[in-house]
Amino acid sequence: MTPELAHDLKASVRTIVDYPKPGILFRDITTLLGDARSFRRAVDELVQPWAGLKIDKVAGMEARGFIIGGAVAHQLSAGFVPIRKKGKLPHTTVRIAYSLEYGIDEMEVHADAIKPGERVILVDDLIATGGTAEGAVKLMRQIGAEVMAACFIIDLPDLGGAAKLRAMNVPVRTLMTFD
Ligand code: AMP
Repeated sequence: MTPELAHDLKASVRTIVDYPKPGILFRDITTLLGDARSFRRAVDELVQPWAGLKIDKVAGMEARGFIIGGAVAHQLSAGFVPIRKKGKLPHTTVRIAYSLEYGIDEMEVHADAIKPGERVILVDDLIATGGTAEGAVKLMRQIGAEVMAACFIIDLPDLGGAAKLRAMNVPVRTLMTFD
C-alpha cells in the first residue's frame, strides 16, 4: 500500500470521543464506507494477498463485518457466512462463548455453513482485544474450516488482538493502526 493510500484511508475514519462510554475513542468506519473511493480502495487492499487464490468462504462478524465481508467475498468470488450473536440464525447452529471487555457473550454460525476443509477468511471492521475474533476462529475450526487469515480495516495493537490471532496460527491483515 502506498503511503498516500494509507494516509487517505486513515483520514476517512471518524473518531468519536467518549462513545459508547467515557474514555473510549470509537473508530467509526461509516465515513470510510460512505465514501465510494475509500470503500473500494479499502476492499481492494484487504483482498490483495488472496487475489487469484482459492478462497471458499468469507465469514463476517456481526454487524460491521457483514458490510466489509460481503464486499470481500464478492471480490474473491467466495461465498459469505454470517457469524451472528446468539438467537438470530434460523437453522441448526454451533455456538461459542467469547470474551468481551467486560464479561462474556455468545456467537453462532449455521452448522452446515462450511464444508470440512473449506478455506475461510474472517472479516471484521476492527480488532481490539481480539476476544471476538478468537471466538470466531474457534467457531470456524469447530465446523471444519481451514482459517486462512483474518482481515480488519483497523488494528488497535496496544490491546493485543492481532498478536493473539497470530499465536493461533492465523495470519492477520490490517490496513491501519490507532494507538
Ligand atoms: P475485540 O473483541 O476486543 O477485539 O473487539 C472488537 C469488536 O468490538 C469489533 O467488532 C469492533 O467493531 C468493536 N470495537 C472494539 N473497540 C472499538 C473501538 N475503539 N471503536 C470501534 N469499534 C470497536
